[in-house]
Amino acid sequence: MYHVVTPDPRDSAPDTASELPDADERPSGSELKKKERVLHTRVPAVLERELKRFAENLRVPVSNLVRTILEDAVTAADHATETVEQRLRRAAGTLEQERERLKKKIVTDRLAGVFAFQSVTLAKPQTCAKCECDLPIGERAHFGLTDAPQAERVFVCDDCLPKPA
Ligand SMILES: [Zn+2]
Repeated sequence: MYHVVTPDPRDSAPDTASELPDADERPSGSELKKKERVLHTRVPAVLERELKRFAENLRVPVSNLVRTILEDAVTAADHATETVEQRLRRAAGTLEQERERLKKKIVTDRLAGVFAFQSVTLAKPQTCAKCECDLPIGERAHFGLTDAPQAERVFVCDDCLPKPA
């Protein structure tokens, strides 16, 4: 187990986390409420495959999944003594059971920074961030607007648009 914490966002990310841009790994100074750091963690190959498979399954970047699992660990008092690796291993072992719960948390995280939805006509196929339905070219969808300049683009379908109570 080996890990390095670096405050430099330009530092190259590990392969497993480089599939999609990750807003939180590119801090932009004053825009951020809190300073976030890039955590490079070496994990066993088997665990990496599991995490990759699970992330693909949820259609999220591996880095998002790992962050969610770790944030989750911070709030889990009964596992407070676990190391990062132990927590990731345990999570990988119970991924199927935790799948739905983690998925819900990741969806919440992805939409957390959105302050409004703007109706758009899609020029490229997208997937609804909430229900994961396919949104083909030409479809009307709703683009999530955020203040974070490097935020991941999120779209939702008509059904998943927030409705007045
Ligand atoms: Zn939807």
